[in-house]
Amino acid sequence: MYDIGIIGGGTAGMTAAVYGQRAGKRTVIIEAMNYGGQITVSPKVENYPGIASVSGAEFSMNLLDQAMKLGAETELEQVTGIREEDGIKVIETEGKEYPCRTVIIATGVTHRHLGLDREEALLGAGVSYCATCDGAFFKGKDVAVIGGGNTALQDAEFLSNYCNKVYLVHRRDEFRGEAGLVEPLKRKENVEFVLSATVKELVGETVVEGLILNNKKTGEDFQISVSGVFAAIGQVPENQAFAGLVRLDDSGFIAASEDCVTSCPGIFAAGDCRTKEVRQLTTAAADGAVAALAACKYISRQEIAE
Ligand code: NAP
Repeated sequence: MYDIGIIGGGTAGMTAAVYGQRAGKRTVIIEAMNYGGQITVSPKVENYPGIASVSGAEFSMNLLDQAMKLGAETELEQVTGIREEDGIKVIETEGKEYPCRTVIIATGVTHRHLGLDREEALLGAGVSYCATCDGAFFKGKDVAVIGGGNTALQDAEFLSNYCNKVYLVHRRDEFRGEAGLVEPLKRKENVEFVLSATVKELVGETVVEGLILNNKKTGEDFQISVSGVFAAIGQVPENQAFAGLVRLDDSGFIAASEDCVTSCPGIFAAGDCRTKEVRQLTTAAADGAVAALAACKYISRQEIAE
């Protein structure tokens, strides 16, 4: 029996494990893919207090190391659901079950898709959601990055070092991302901003050969030739497996405020998977701490009641 079962090994989940272990609780982190979550693909993190600059991968590995040295257990498994049984929460995976006194859901978010015809079919054949992972395949080629947030800006900068040309396509005139990331891009000769434009169509049968864009100001369609399209248009949650037990908001995020408390007693939600305004590394770490301490308090109350 675990005191705290943590679903998701990103920043929120691993921070929860650090706090749980330091409070003397037995914790397990169950992660589906790889530890670190979204931040692992960030080439440079420069907004985490006390760390001037670190790669996302190094940050994640340090955090995992910290949690494991404190005694947190780790399992690489896909969680399929949680059920309640005699006051115990049982985390279900494809092959196993983990009985826990409390559960922290820290499943993060996944990439939002463009919603274009054949987008899934051309995944890996020019369509990508991760410039850091796939950028090297497009060395010397022309590519497009879609989006106007920090991820799109960072992706464009990253790809401009490999690719012949990078079109940065954004649906508005102004970027959502930080000015500090926009300015260096303006100075890059091989980066072209295509603003007030949306993507209408992927061109190419078996591989991406171009994009048909729509100029929102004139209403006209036009085409650019690219071998790769990197969608960086934000993220969506993946919480359906828990919908029967905890309340989700209209967008599918777990309804929980800053206290990380969900509609189900003993289940907490931490990080990007819950309803929140600011989704950052710092707020994910903060949630991990808040959720773990809330779980510890819940366990103490249960012990007093028993
Ligand atoms: P984001 O900030 O939500 O930006 C998404 C961008 O995609 C927006 O510009 C949005 O346009 C656009 N978009 C959304 N749906 C679209 C659609 N269907 N078609 C075309 N464009 C669409 O997402 P993000 O850039 O992934 O960043 C997520 C969070 O992580 C943010 O809080 C960000 O600051 C943070 N982050 C931080 C760093 C860092 O500091 N090192 C790096 C990466 C990300 P509109 O602007 O018009 O809404």
